[in-house]
Amino acid sequence: MQEIKCKHCKGTNTYKKGFRQTEHRGKIQKHYCKDCRRMFTQDLGFYRMRHSETIITMSVDMYISNLSSRKMKNQLSRHFNLKVTHMTILDWVRRFTLKVSKFVEKLGYNMGDSFYADETLIDCEGRNDRFWCCLDWDTRMITGTHYSLSANPAQAIKFLNKAISKGKPKFIQTDGGVFYPKAFKKMFYSNKIGGLTIEHKIQNYQKTRIHNYKIETVFMKIKDRVDDFRGLKALWSAPIMMMAITIQHNFIEAHTTIEDVPCERAGANLPLGENRWLDLIKLSAQNN
Ligand SMILES: [Zn+2]
Repeated sequence: MQEIKCKHCKGTNTYKKGFRQTEHRGKIQKHYCKDCRRMFTQDLGFYRMRHSETIITMSVDMYISNLSSRKMKNQLSRHFNLKVTHMTILDWVRRFTLKVSKFVEKLGYNMGDSFYADETLIDCEGRNDRFWCCLDWDTRMITGTHYSLSANPAQAIKFLNKAISKGKPKFIQTDGGVFYPKAFKKMFYSNKIGGLTIEHKIQNYQKTRIHNYKIETVFMKIKDRVDDFRGLKALWSAPIMMMAITIQHNFIEAHTTIEDVPCERAGANLPLGENRWLDLIKLSAQNN
């Protein structure tokens, strides 16, 4: 049996004592701590949330799958007679994205040795922002993302550091961006071998047109989603959007051609049922 830690003093000298009746989530087990003599309830992922787990996870999933928060709000009203504001939905997305992200960051992954990097211009409030993304070919996992207001070697280094934080490829292929060679040299040059420890391959459009069609389609899908989030910058910080997209891609949606969720191919076998967001949130609460 899993021992239950007191919320207040972290002691394990606790026992079950009665229930708390909640309006939307039914009865919740209460516990008593003999050490500090206080009552507490466990955080099973949805602590103090005023709506059901199903409604919350459905909203998060659909929002990240491209339904706007206002449309989601209307759906909840029409089909469940639930009145929530679109801001509440954004709050759920933000809150649970951060929780799950913290959890999945701690896991280990078996990635392959071929990484593909790509950066896109994002037209945001008149600025040309950049969205950077790196994919592992074998698993199709997003290995790292970065959002910046400009593209230069310093930003490329920040991006590449995130891209290799979970795996070490033999090579990373990029486009012909002029900032990459400097960044690679700074990060991966070794005097001992007189070269780069991670090879830099440059995609040559003139020669090959589309170098790697399969990886391009994955990038296209991710870019579409980033485009849909445009204009929400006032409500959202870009890093959380990137996290949400990454979680949805790596852990929630089965890849169309490989018919696996990328995290499974990377050996992260999490006990996730049909409602993957729900189970991810619960796992995150248990492992925080
Ligand atoms: Zn206690």
